[in-house]
Amino acid sequence: MEASRLAATNEPDAEKAFFVADLSQVYKQHERWQRCLPGIEPFYAIKCNPDPYVLRLLASLGTGFDCASNGEISQVLKLGVDPSRIIFANPCKATSFVKNAAKAGVDMMTFDNVDELYKIARVHSGAKLVVRILTDDSKSLCRLGLKFGAPLVTVPGLLAKARELRLDVIGVSFHVGSGNFDSNAFADAVIRARTAFDMGKEAGYDFQLLDVGGGFEDANFEPTAAILAHALDIHFPDRQRLRIIAEPGRFYVSKAFSLAANIIARRARNADGSSDAEMDADQPSVMYYINDGVYGAFNCILFDHQKVHPRVLSLHGSFHVPASEPLGACSVWGPTCDSIDCVCPVTHLPSGLQVGDWLGFDNMGAYTICAASQFNGFEVSNVIYTTGGGCGAAEVRSSLAAFAKAGYGL
Ligand code: PLP
Repeated sequence: MEASRLAATNEPDAEKAFFVADLSQVYKQHERWQRCLPGIEPFYAIKCNPDPYVLRLLASLGTGFDCASNGEISQVLKLGVDPSRIIFANPCKATSFVKNAAKAGVDMMTFDNVDELYKIARVHSGAKLVVRILTDDSKSLCRLGLKFGAPLVTVPGLLAKARELRLDVIGVSFHVGSGNFDSNAFADAVIRARTAFDMGKEAGYDFQLLDVGGGFEDANFEPTAAILAHALDIHFPDRQRLRIIAEPGRFYVSKAFSLAANIIARRARNADGSSDAEMDADQPSVMYYINDGVYGAFNCILFDHQKVHPRVLSLHGSFHVPASEPLGACSVWGPTCDSIDCVCPVTHLPSGLQVGDWLGFDNMGAYTICAASQFNGFEVSNVIYTTGGGCGAAEVRSSLAAFAKAGYGL
């Protein structure tokens, strides 16, 4: 009895959802970065997706890393990355974390308030400080300025305090907000950074670092890069002694990860004898339940303001999905017992979708796995890695086939 129960619980989660990570996409984004912003060193923001293979790849490509905690710092150091390639880019750190950074040799760190300066003076007096300034992030999805960034009027006071505490401030950083589709935000931020540099000079510092933060979007990367490069040419024409770094996160990983999720249940209006009066009239008549949701990979819907769009990977168990299949309005839900767990309130999918069929979701690499929970006992979806050929339907289908062959069933 006991043995058979154990066997049952140990059985692989036959239809478990999974990510397909195409590491070649990460490499291509790096090439794109180097092509468009050759003078700016990327320090990948690991909060976005601390996948070990992504980190290893970026470490071998020579990027730096933006870390926000002890845990992130040790994850990067374990890869053999030199501490000089890390910026501790959290302006409000626990004292113990600053102490730990000092021990680990991580010197470069941001601040935006006086208390942080006292703290750093006490436990890491040799730190290389970067003042994080507030910029206009009003057009971004995630307005980081609500929490961080010193308004320019406060910068002279902060720098005076830093001098009084004999701290070394080496430059300025900003973040235009994550998910920022307004390329001009970078031009405006560079102007503010220029002002902060001049304030540094007034305070007796000789700033040599400009950190232009994250917020780079795949869809408008080229125009954004052109606007940023132009603003830098105008406002920082003398670059001989200036190091420019950035903290891109989603730009590097968003496209590289797709998610395949299985339809584990379906409720169709009237199919079970329920009357229309018993159903919510605003809801599409078919509800699909898949095995990852907002408590898992789709936390990006809640935390990162994302909208996700399913595509059909299999229909009636077949991976040959006719393009002509008629579509019907439906909703897609996650697997937990919570009604907030809604992946798509309304979408249109082939009417013939059944329990056991697979849906694919693209652009699932940023702010997904990193914040996924195991609420209700649902495990975080695993990642399968590929090194090329894109991350399209064919890729996901062949991964599914490989999964099936490996005994994970379909
Ligand atoms: N740098 C800092 C300090 C951040 O807080 C973030 C995101 O929250 C990033 C970089 C990465 O931003 P993105 O993923 O939009 O490039």
